[in-house]
Amino acid sequence: MNSLLTIIVPCFNEEEVLPLFIDAITPVRAKLPCETELLFIDDGSSDRTLELLRSYASKDSSVRYVSFSRNFGKEAAILAGLKETKGDTCVLLDADLQHPPTLIPEMYRELTEGNYDSVAMYRDDRKKEGFFRRTFSSMFFKLINKMSKINLINGATDFRMMKRPMINAILSLPEHNRFSKGIFNWVGFNTKWLPFETAERPAGESKWSFGKLVAYSMDAILGFSEVPLKFFSKLGFFFCIMSFVLGLVFFVKTLIWGDPVAGFPTQFIMLLLLSGIMLCFLGVIGLYISRIYVELKGRPAYLVKETEKDNNSK
Ligand code: UDP
Ligand code: MG
Repeated sequence: MNSLLTIIVPCFNEEEVLPLFIDAITPVRAKLPCETELLFIDDGSSDRTLELLRSYASKDSSVRYVSFSRNFGKEAAILAGLKETKGDTCVLLDADLQHPPTLIPEMYRELTEGNYDSVAMYRDDRKKEGFFRRTFSSMFFKLINKMSKINLINGATDFRMMKRPMINAILSLPEHNRFSKGIFNWVGFNTKWLPFETAERPAGESKWSFGKLVAYSMDAILGFSEVPLKFFSKLGFFFCIMSFVLGLVFFVKTLIWGDPVAGFPTQFIMLLLLSGIMLCFLGVIGLYISRIYVELKGRPAYLVKETEKDNNSK
């Protein structure tokens, strides 16, 4: 069997870590029982990342790269990687060696011998993270599992190996706002989960600010859940019933005891409460509409500036 494994590596300003990555991945490639190719996705780096990729690709024909015209985010890089995969199997991993390349042979063995469609890795070492980030991320996993039909393992990462049928299934989803962990789960297929410990980043720094993580979580929830919409419609309905009942109560009260003008504070509070809820709901609708707007425009998830083919012809 002549199978090819594509190793997809998203890179955003990783000049410091790339040489270390190459050193780590080379022996692993030699060990694998199949052909391999390296596919780097340069996510609009502003450092020497692209230069390094050009030189790797010019020396070795099994190294390819796709370079974006600007930073489109890791999700876009993953999509580009899957699209460009030539192999019948692919593995996604970070450039920063936090997803240890030494685990790839074991993943490959599980995938082929266990007859799975996918082998996915989850982090078993949350204690290493800061308190704030750890709490935020476990809250996120609980929330998304409660609010949507997808079910993510706490600590699920993008470190994952997949066979061609699953790759094609993922590529058949046309959405622009992509939350890969959700998509991997949504498409189904047989997945084997393995625990792993993330390594320390040997060089460079994390590209995820807290703000970026919050935006990422919002994308995930809005992309996979209608709970916020349903929640506010239910709340609205509840308040309608409440006001009807209250109206009836006041009507009867007036009939029996007359109408001593009182209760302005209550009205004021109700007014504020209701308008608050309405504004909240409008905001939620706005969030969904803005996503619809982006999807409707149908802009590509990323734009390619250069690949190894352009470089070879120069
Ligand atoms: N990355 C990317 N585009 C981005 C941010 C990150 O392609 O906008 C890549 C980055 O180069 C790395 C991987 O995604 O290979 C994970 O990023 P990072 O290590 O910064 O994230 P962390 O490990 O802190 O979650
Ligand atoms: Mg990292």
